Amino acid sequence: MGRLMILGSASAVPDEHHENTHLMVSVGSHTVLVDCGSNPIQHLRRAGISFESLTEIVLTHFHPDHVSGLPLLLMGMWLMGRKAPLKIYGIDHTLERAETMMALFDWHGWPGFYPVTFIQIENKEMCPLIVDEDIRLYASSVKHLIPTIGLRMEFPRAGKTIAYTSDTEPCPSTVSLARGADILIHEATGASTGHSSPAQAAEIGNRAGAKTLYLIHYPPEKDAQELVQEAQKIFTGRVILAQDFMRIDF
Ligand SMILES: [Zn+2]
Repeated sequence: MGRLMILGSASAVPDEHHENTHLMVSVGSHTVLVDCGSNPIQHLRRAGISFESLTEIVLTHFHPDHVSGLPLLLMGMWLMGRKAPLKIYGIDHTLERAETMMALFDWHGWPGFYPVTFIQIENKEMCPLIVDEDIRLYASSVKHLIPTIGLRMEFPRAGKTIAYTSDTEPCPSTVSLARGADILIHEATGASTGHSSPAQAAEIGNRAGAKTLYLIHYPPEKDAQELVQEAQKIFTGRVILAQDFMRIDF
């Protein structure tokens, strides 16, 4: 039994009900945070998830709405007495900058800091990040304004697959990531370079044969019904507008 929690659903500018897009996946011995735009500690606490239990963080790209909360999260865990090691995954473009950001805070001088390992993943199709009996997590490059990865998460025990695009315009790799997925969580910022509209997300979902489409990373001021309707006109399965604290059990 595992779960995915939507911790934030907004695009770059959040509102009082929608944090910047970030997710948490908990399965077996893994508690994986995907992106860290704002300080995730409050939302993890509100969701009843102990933030000290995080085992891995995946950073999809180095834009402020996806990485700016990292120093606060790492510091918070340290102040709460964390000793357990933590792994942070990302491509070179992301991790080099994340390490530089932490270095600006002189974090190597913080006494008793727990071990953090930055794991640089290859910039290739379906690069495996975590592969065991509970989760098979793969990343592929998507098409955003800077180097960015999308994710495919297979849960072998449950026989379920969830794909998450991160920020991207329509591209072949999101179709591959979402191929036959039970759930595709696709960004819906709006049609522009490096981003997608709900209709474009729906087209990708159809091409991939995904069963359910969650729209995420949308401007929260937009009309929720219109966003869903735009995608639902095209998508053959069910469309759901992701909201903060939505929980998907699998
Ligand atoms: Zn973003």
